[in-house]
Amino acid sequence: MDSLYTFAILICLAAAILFFITLLYTSIIFWKEKEKRATFRAVTFLFVLPVPYLLSWYYSWEIVALLLSIDLLLTFLVFAIPFPRPKNICDDFPASQIDERDIMFARNELKVGSNRYDEYYQNNPDKEILDNKFRKEPGLLTKKSVFYNRMAYAASNASFFAVDHFKTAIDGEVNPIQEAISQEKMIVFLKSWTKKLGALQVGFTKLSDYHYYSHKGRGDQYGEQIKNHHSYAIAFTVEMNQEMVAAAPKASIVMESAQQYLEAGRIAVQIGQFLRNLGYSAKAHIDGNYEVICPLVARDAGLGEIGRMGLLMTPKEGPRVRLGVVTTDFVLPSKQWKKNNSLLDFCNRCKKCAAVCPSKSISFDPPHRIDGIKRWQINSESCFTYWSKAGTDCGRCMASCPYSHPNNFLHNSIRWGIQHSPLFRRIAVPLDDFFYGRKPKAAKMPNWIPNEKL
Ligand code: SF4
Ligand code: SF4
Repeated sequence: MDSLYTFAILICLAAAILFFITLLYTSIIFWKEKEKRATFRAVTFLFVLPVPYLLSWYYSWEIVALLLSIDLLLTFLVFAIPFPRPKNICDDFPASQIDERDIMFARNELKVGSNRYDEYYQNNPDKEILDNKFRKEPGLLTKKSVFYNRMAYAASNASFFAVDHFKTAIDGEVNPIQEAISQEKMIVFLKSWTKKLGALQVGFTKLSDYHYYSHKGRGDQYGEQIKNHHSYAIAFTVEMNQEMVAAAPKASIVMESAQQYLEAGRIAVQIGQFLRNLGYSAKAHIDGNYEVICPLVARDAGLGEIGRMGLLMTPKEGPRVRLGVVTTDFVLPSKQWKKNNSLLDFCNRCKKCAAVCPSKSISFDPPHRIDGIKRWQINSESCFTYWSKAGTDCGRCMASCPYSHPNNFLHNSIRWGIQHSPLFRRIAVPLDDFFYGRKPKAAKMPNWIPNEKL
């Protein structure tokens, strides 16, 4: 009996220490993230939770053993209860091609009174009324915008200036002598080198018409039909810094977006040139010079799913990434993309981005049929109107998404739970709301960015 008592005591102690360490670790992570509310709540738990156990211990160790057994059983059940697998939350393939002239960046570039302007709105009179709203606002990176910050805006413009200079390098002469390289060797090299250049994840896909825009919507080739020259693509993600994103929609978000457009552009240009050096046609798709719809290419390359906010949701950094794509005629693997229904199911429940969106551009509804396919679609006109008022690319949705939390053991464990347990997916949203808030406030910008307007 004595040895049973000792064994039970040891088990209780081990379980109690494990729970305590988990809460301590959670508190430290929240504190490092500078999340005051989450830290306060975790620390409160740290001190309050042991109380009933200690009181019970005072009366009888059997009660403590019972309580801890119930905790362990509940934890086990969260992952073991078989719920029906979610399926067909969104449809997979767009029914038609998107015209780049319809995207907000292209419409923003139309100069009032120009031929392009007149022609576009003659064909799309309904869009002129909507676009007049953003034209009344100060505009992106302008002095009169709400979040104007002279240093951050100047830095953002510097990054956009640099990426603009890559546009002469997105394509070029192909070496007439083509090197014979096996697909196996090429994919190992491309994956490793792209990561070494700064990418997080790399994938490959075969291209279909729906990956390409139907017509150019920006620059000198405005209105030209886009021909599907390449049949394969390399897609990759680059991470956006969590601290810069957390302050969205303040100016650090646009600094970070511009920086990562530049990073993605640099990597894409290098890969494109590398393939052309070896005798394979290749084109880099970079900010302001896209012929493909990057989120669709990246999704089909297996890098994530397109979530409620219309961005690619990656398994580890969520939407807190920028994308790069290189198209080529080198025959790459066309592995069938495996739909991540768990992630889409979580998106279906969460709706946090819809709750925080300052312009109410994100729907709270489940995916529904738009142009013949079941999906989510944000209201890009109201979103862009807010950007034009804010002066930044907002990013409040990205900053608040539970999937955007930093890549560490705590958040990776939660993302693992979301991926593997339907019941945990139900718990994860209220848990995130409890610690971070349903509508988390924007964090402060990093200290080194002066908070000044003049
Ligand atoms: S905030 Fe929630 S609903 Fe929105 S994209 Fe992220 S996971 Fe999906
Ligand atoms: S970027 Fe801002 S305005 Fe646009 S959908 Fe996200 S939260 Fe809403």
